[in-house]
Amino acid sequence: MTIKIKKQPSGESLRAAVEQLAGVDLSTCYQCKKCSIGCPVAGLVASPPSEIIRRLQLGAGDELLQTDLIWTCLSCDTCYARCPNEINFAGIIDALRAVSLEKGVARPQGNPPLFNRRFLDTVKSYGRAYDLQMLAAYKLGTGKFTADMEKLPALLKKGKMAVLPPSGADKNKVKRIFAATKPKGKSK
Ligand code: SF4
Ligand code: SF4
Repeated sequence: MTIKIKKQPSGESLRAAVEQLAGVDLSTCYQCKKCSIGCPVAGLVASPPSEIIRRLQLGAGDELLQTDLIWTCLSCDTCYARCPNEINFAGIIDALRAVSLEKGVARPQGNPPLFNRRFLDTVKSYGRAYDLQMLAAYKLGTGKFTADMEKLPALLKKGKMAVLPPSGADKNKVKRIFAATKPKGKSK
């Protein structure tokens, strides 16, 4: 596939920011595409992992922050495990997410940052994910509380979603992890 890049002034700074945040050297990628071949969502997105890296190498600018893989990536680390050069592509996605959030770039669908925050809220509170509370809080945040509600009875009936909050986790340990990984400048 031919990759067309419109080089932008922000290209160098985006590449530098990603390399610094993810702790990777993008020049070591030789485009073998093993990451893309193993990625479970590669067929669903506009640009698979190797193409994102190529676009960064070629100096793509902030338009890359609109790419859908940033919010479709499952953070499964398959790309990282398959890379012969140990390039942490999931880390690159985390870096692109962070830059995207910082710049307030529009997301293609839904509100993944809000979803991520509500997910982490429940992990912080219970030490584990509590899907029901997370979804209720997410829906309140989006203002679309009734969307997809028809699926809830089936999820509960099949035991795919628990009514009661999870128990048994070491909450103090989880809180220490949150404290240790808190972004600089955030009070909570
Ligand atoms: S597997 Fe590694 S070297 Fe190969 S294309 Fe992907 S990131 Fe580049
Ligand atoms: S971590 Fe993301 S980009 Fe990498 S293989 Fe998994 S879904 Fe694909």
